Amino acid sequence: METEGKEDKEKKKKTDEGGERERGRDVSHGTACFRELLQYLLYGPLVAKAIYSRAWEGGKEDELWCLHLLFLFVLRGLIHQLWWSFSSMLFLTRKRRIVKEGINFKQIEREWDWDNFLIPQILIGAMGFCLFPSLRALPPWDLKGFFIALLLHVGISEPLYYLAHRAFHSGELFRHYHSLHHSSPVPSPFTAGHGTPLEHIVLSLAMGLPLIGANVIGAGSMGLLYLHVLLFDFLRCMAHSNVEVFGNGFSETFPFLRYLICTPTYHSLHHTEMGSNYCLFMPLFDALGGTLNAKSWPLQKEISSGKNIQVPEFVFLAHVVDVVSSLHVPFVFRSFSSVPFRVIPFILFCWPGAFLVMLAMWAWSKTFLLSFYNLRGRLHQYWVVPRHGFQYFLPFAKDGINDQIEKAIMRADSMGVKVLSLAALNKNEALNGGGTLFVNKHPSLKVRVVHGNTLTAAVILNEIPRDVKEVFLTGATSKLGRAIALYLCRKKVRVLMLTLSTERFQKIQKEAPADCQQYLVQVTKYEAAQNCKTWIVGKWITLSEQRLAPSGTHFHQFVVPPIIGFRFDCTYGKLAAMRLPPDVQGLGMCEYTLDRGVVHACHAGGVVHFLEGWTHHEVGAIDVDRVDIVWRAALKNGLRPA
Ligand SMILES: [Zn+2]
Ligand SMILES: [Zn+2]
Repeated sequence: METEGKEDKEKKKKTDEGGERERGRDVSHGTACFRELLQYLLYGPLVAKAIYSRAWEGGKEDELWCLHLLFLFVLRGLIHQLWWSFSSMLFLTRKRRIVKEGINFKQIEREWDWDNFLIPQILIGAMGFCLFPSLRALPPWDLKGFFIALLLHVGISEPLYYLAHRAFHSGELFRHYHSLHHSSPVPSPFTAGHGTPLEHIVLSLAMGLPLIGANVIGAGSMGLLYLHVLLFDFLRCMAHSNVEVFGNGFSETFPFLRYLICTPTYHSLHHTEMGSNYCLFMPLFDALGGTLNAKSWPLQKEISSGKNIQVPEFVFLAHVVDVVSSLHVPFVFRSFSSVPFRVIPFILFCWPGAFLVMLAMWAWSKTFLLSFYNLRGRLHQYWVVPRHGFQYFLPFAKDGINDQIEKAIMRADSMGVKVLSLAALNKNEALNGGGTLFVNKHPSLKVRVVHGNTLTAAVILNEIPRDVKEVFLTGATSKLGRAIALYLCRKKVRVLMLTLSTERFQKIQKEAPADCQQYLVQVTKYEAAQNCKTWIVGKWITLSEQRLAPSGTHFHQFVVPPIIGFRFDCTYGKLAAMRLPPDVQGLGMCEYTLDRGVVHACHAGGVVHFLEGWTHHEVGAIDVDRVDIVWRAALKNGLRPA
């Protein structure tokens, strides 16, 4: 059963970069959190000053600058976050994405501290207010100051940044100071903040000079400070959003405007081709400097037409697990969704919002595109049925859910998707007979519908040591329980099947070859397993039931949600899962509680079905004869047990 040899394990250790990275983040997660907290402590003096001035000086008008700076800092972070959320809502932006690849864990790790630049900039601001007390009495708004700042931006900041950026692209300067910003293959709003200190000094100058100028002339205002800084961030994020937001008539309808504003396509071309499009926000300076990429406008037109989209060949049709875990998606928080899901206090604050979204999805949402990755040049997508786990157990919600799944299958079929794999409860026996309902209703489907449970069974079976003579099985008459029992009895392993229904037990027993039937034994009480150290749990078990297992028992499991490990003298297996091949590209999201690069076995089962080009649907009962075939095919294609 355990076919993966020592050599394979060694090889996996060396080649599996995703795994190494994952462990890196896991080991240092505590340290990383601590470092991040320390980073925010740098704002401490400002917070202290703000509190002090409110408490002791009665919140005098001229002491409010600390609060303004802190509030501005929060808004700047929010602008980056909102641009990220927008650009990664693929159900809105998929047709307008510029670079088609996905953002992988490597890039997420590299850009993890994208917000560092905000700290020195807020401290520079604080220094300004301390050194020039007159700034503390700035009026709310002064229109003259706005025009002066605009003039200085166009006349000084733009050409200054343009020249500095061109210089950054020359030999040594690029290698030491600018290659970091260009190390992200897919631009994202967080890439905008990802650069070296020298780059941020240049950017701070470009941002600060118009503000200094307006204040020197005596036309500065608090409104200008907010407007200028936030607009600066907004345009930088837009340029790096990787989503073309301007219409396809933009370059023709506004031939003049196109020299004044840098579109996302324009700056993406700088990232993909480098030798052109250096400007900050105004392509005019590239035109003057002879560095304007000729493809800028035709490509902008082509992308914003929305016709240039890639069709997925494999779809994993998931659903939401619960309200808290619904926040574990890239477009909420990228960093949070790039590590295995766990409940953290911060995320609980978002619960009310997520609850309202759940209600809204129930009322209006259709199945939507969540995420994607590429494997061997083929596009694999995650689609999500807009229903939460608990809704699958409401009798009146059943038809609505099946309707959503059916529509998703029909859409995949018309798009030319090759394999659609049903996740978790989407293939629930009571809901649609493990997908049988749809296949029977639409006999001419071209897309293959797959529940992937043959591989789930294979993963569980391959975890069981070869020398085991007896196992205890709960959930024994379920789809997976039946397959596990029938497979093991053929290997002459005695299976204690816990079920109260003799009829269902006998039905399964009759399916076994005559000489193996004796290995299947019906038991009706947990006490029957008091001497059995291999428990395969397919049904939730309580503490008192777990107590009946002998010391040293290993609990294998295929129950969702997984059981709680109460026994310290026993070990617990995780949910059946497999690691995707190391050549997977653009993967930056963890599947629920699983490690980076690891997917649920039924997802992996769909991938194998697709890679092998199998032409049958995998629905309904598990074909026990195929367990070994599917397992070998998974290993052959580079998937590994997690
Ligand atoms: Zn550059
Ligand atoms: Zn850039």
